[in-house]
Parts: sequence; structure tokens; C-alpha cells
Amino acid sequence: MDLKPSEVATVLKAEIEGFQGRMQKSNIGTVLMVGDGTARVHGLDDCMMNEMLDFGDGIFGVALNLEEDNVGAVLLGSDSKVKEGDTVRTTGRIISVPTGLQMCGRVVDALGKAIDGKGDIKVADSDMRPIEGRSPSVPERQPVTEPLQTGLKAVDAMIPIGRGQRELIIGDRQTGKTSLIVDTFINQKSTGGGDPNNPDQVICIYVAVGQKQSTIKGVVATLEANGAMPYTIVVSAPASAEASMQFLSCYAGASMGERLRDEGRHVVIAYDDLYKQALAYRQVMLLLRRPPGREAFPGDVFNLHSRLLERAAKLSDAMGGGSLTALPVVETQEGDVSAYIPTNVISITDGQIFLESSLFNAGQRPAVNAGISVSRVGGAAQIGAMKKNAGGLRIQLAQFRELAAFAQFGSDLDKDTQQAITRGERMIEVLKQPEFEPVPVEEQIIAIYAATSGALDEIPVKRVSDFEKQYVAFARANHADVLASIRDGKKWTDDIAKSCDEMAKTFKAEFLA
Ligand code: ATP
Ligand code: MG
Repeated sequence: MDLKPSEVATVLKAEIEGFQGRMQKSNIGTVLMVGDGTARVHGLDDCMMNEMLDFGDGIFGVALNLEEDNVGAVLLGSDSKVKEGDTVRTTGRIISVPTGLQMCGRVVDALGKAIDGKGDIKVADSDMRPIEGRSPSVPERQPVTEPLQTGLKAVDAMIPIGRGQRELIIGDRQTGKTSLIVDTFINQKSTGGGDPNNPDQVICIYVAVGQKQSTIKGVVATLEANGAMPYTIVVSAPASAEASMQFLSCYAGASMGERLRDEGRHVVIAYDDLYKQALAYRQVMLLLRRPPGREAFPGDVFNLHSRLLERAAKLSDAMGGGSLTALPVVETQEGDVSAYIPTNVISITDGQIFLESSLFNAGQRPAVNAGISVSRVGGAAQIGAMKKNAGGLRIQLAQFRELAAFAQFGSDLDKDTQQAITRGERMIEVLKQPEFEPVPVEEQIIAIYAATSGALDEIPVKRVSDFEKQYVAFARANHADVLASIRDGKKWTDDIAKSCDEMAKTFKAEFLA
């Protein structure tokens, strides 16, 4: 080929412009070190955070630590087949889990694989969702407007939860934290008849982190026995699972919830519990040589929880109006809410339900300490009739608590004090509730009204719960219209109050006869 000297520059220029960089960027690396379920890999220049890494032999890992000259990864599965010097490939895929309604009724592991022995779950490629993504921005959200009824009088009246809210359940071990969640899930059956395909049905997701297999099995059995399993997904990462699985399981569950939330559905997700999740995270991160900070947790343990809980949201109407309500659980030691993880999670959530051992052991179950439990946003979602009655309940209970402490000294009490104590004792009784017996909101309201209005004052304390049960049954049988007007009207009117007074009077005569 003849080239004139003047053309050389043009040809060179064209060549340079057309240069594609045929030198392939390395997405193949080698294992530098492996052990304790983690590996350091050299040479993965293009690796993304949370990317799946292929270690060959069907073994996969997840990149969690991207450093200048190496990548720290956790292995999903046993590390015994991985050796130093092995080849590792990036896959270009962020770790993803299957999502969608077909997950309902199933027990899956942290990667969404069925482990309930009921066969594989059919998953289309479009059902796969990365376990972490962008949480909704401010304009994409709206304040909570609809209640998430737990069916528990103590919670729905005094610490109401709204759809899209984040409410922490905190307490020592064996104080009824898990039961509170199971009760809430069972109560969601009333939203759509328990059919997950009904768009009104609230879908429930239970993420079990670091618990005993037998405990998880117990929860599943209870949900099943109470007809709550068809609309529930259980993500199980028991204590026996790898630490990486334990902390990833929460994000996996959140992704399953988000998918439905984005389709306009209402979802409630419980993380049981985030303290164990933080422990698992600490274990993995220390093995990956992240520097330890307070209580040996890596510095980003706050972020671990905040980016998880930020995914709970009530979406704006333009976004479909769906919601994801988060109920994280944190176990405390000796009721110490000022430890590192509890304070972190308290500051991230919109309130907390504090369960107390002393109340639990004294027979007040659910053991809600109403004094220090709060719900910062749920009041906006509470129905008017409940709000009106709960206000009186809170004030009278607070008065009662003060007086009861004082009355212990056995001094002579004046009539007003005596009266306040009598009423308080009965309110405490009404707030007690056995497990797995959720109460519809209108029935909660008439029971609470009976206590706060003084209708129970003459009933002996021991007979209050009997009275309540029979009274509600009586109302259901004979005054369904009153209950319906509370339920559908949602407001508390003088007429309703009058009907309730009469109803209580009639029944009381019958009960005490
Ligand atoms: P852990 O710390 O072990 O996870 P937890 O705080 O989740 O415990 P649960 O397992 O929910 O507590 O409850 C502890 C025990 O108390 C269980 O045996 C449960 O049946 C019982 N219990 C919980 N709530 C009630 C209730 N409202 N009435 C009667 N018993 C209850
Ligand atoms: Mg529990």
C-alpha cells in the first residue's frame, strides 16, 4: 500500500480512534488465602460490591470487601474445596434472590431456596431481585395513613403501628418478642381472608436470624395451625447456617417484600433478631480484617441496620401506594437499652415496643411497658374511635402507676385515689391477652371503653378477663350494629358511647346475677 507522507497522520489518527483496547480487562483472579468461610482474591479488577464470584466446582462467593489490591469474599457454602491459587471469576451479577407471590407459604434459606421439602419454587429470571438496592427517596414516599392492626389490645391502643412504619420490638430473652410478631401475622388474615392473591391481603415475611432450628420450626407450625402460612414467607438462617447467610438473610427478605410493595401490595416484615444479625456481621468482617470499633463491631454496623430499615416505606400514590412495614427485633441483656446495638436501632426506627421481664413474670402478657414504649408516627393511622379511647387509657394508666407505687405503703387512701386504683387494676386486666387470639379493633374498643368508663369497677379483678370475653361475645351476638358502626364509621360518637354504656349495663346485670 502506497501512503503519501501527508496521509500518514490521518491514518494514524483513524487507527487511534478506532482502537478498542483489545487487551482484555482481567475478571479472573486467584485465591490468595482461604479459611473460616472467607477468601481473599487477587486480580479481580472489575469486581462490584456484593457481586457473585465463581470459585469453580459450583462454589460461589460474594464480594464484600473491595480493597486496592485484593477482594475479600464470603463463600456461600463449604470452603473445604477451595484452595490457595485457585481461579476465581467475576459473574457480573449482584447477589439476587427470587421474589413474588409464589414464595408465599414457603420456608426458604437466605438465598431464597426452598428448604421445606415441598419441592422447588418456580422462578422466572424476571423474578430475581438483587438483595440490596436503592431505597425510596423522599418524594416517592408519603406519611403513614393506614393502620397495621396487630390484634393486640396493648399495642393497637397505646403503640399503634401504621403501614410503612418501622417499629422496634425490644426486650430481654423470653419476654414474648416472637409471640408478638406471630400474633400480628395471624391477625393479618382478616385483611384479605388469608388469600395471598387478594390484593387487600397483607403479606407477611418472617426472617429468622441465628435462632435454633427448633424455634423456627415452632413458629412455622404455629403459623400453619392458625392459617397464617398461606400468606407468609419464612426466610430461615438458623444459628447453624454460615454467618454470611445469617446477615444476608435480612436483605433477602427485604427484597422479597420490596418487590410486592412496588406492585402496590402491603407487606409486613419481621427481622428476628437484629442483634444476632450484627453478631454474624461482626464475625465475618473481623475475619475479613475490617478494623473493629465499639464492642468490636466494625464501624459500619450502624449502616448495616439503617440501610436495611430504610427500605420500609409507605409509597406515594404515584408509586402505587404500597407499603413495607418493618418490625425489627432486638434482644437486650438485663433490660439494658443503652447498649450499642439497641441504641443504634432505636435511633433508626419510628418507635419501640419495650417488653419487660418483670411484667412478663408477673403475668402481664403481652409484657408491654407502656411507659417507655412509643410509636412516633402510628397515631396518624389509628382509627378515630380507638384514638379517642386510647387517650383516656394512657392517662388513667399513668395515674394508676404513680398511685399504685404510693399505695404500697398502706396508708389510708382517700376516695378518689381508691377509685383511680380500682379502675387502673381493671385496665391492666383488660390489656392482658393470651397468645394467638387476636382481637378485631372494634372489639378492642368496646373492651377498653368498658374499663375506662368505669363499667368494670364493680367486677372483681379476678373475673375481669372472664367478663371481658363474655361481654364481647354478648355484643357480637346482640349488638352487631354497634360493632359495625365502630368498625365502618371509624369514629367515636356520643351515640356509640351511649349504646356501649347500655350494653355494658345490661350484660353486667346478667353477669353478676
Ligand atoms: P427468645 O428471646 O427466646 O426469642 P421471645 O422474647 O421471642 O424469646 P417468645 O418465644 O415469644 O419470647 O415467648 C416466650 C414464652 O412466653 C413462650 O413460651 C410463649 O408461649 C410465652 N408467651 C408469650 N406471649 C404470651 C402471652 N401473651 N400469653 C401467654 N404466654 C405467652
Ligand atoms: Mg424469639
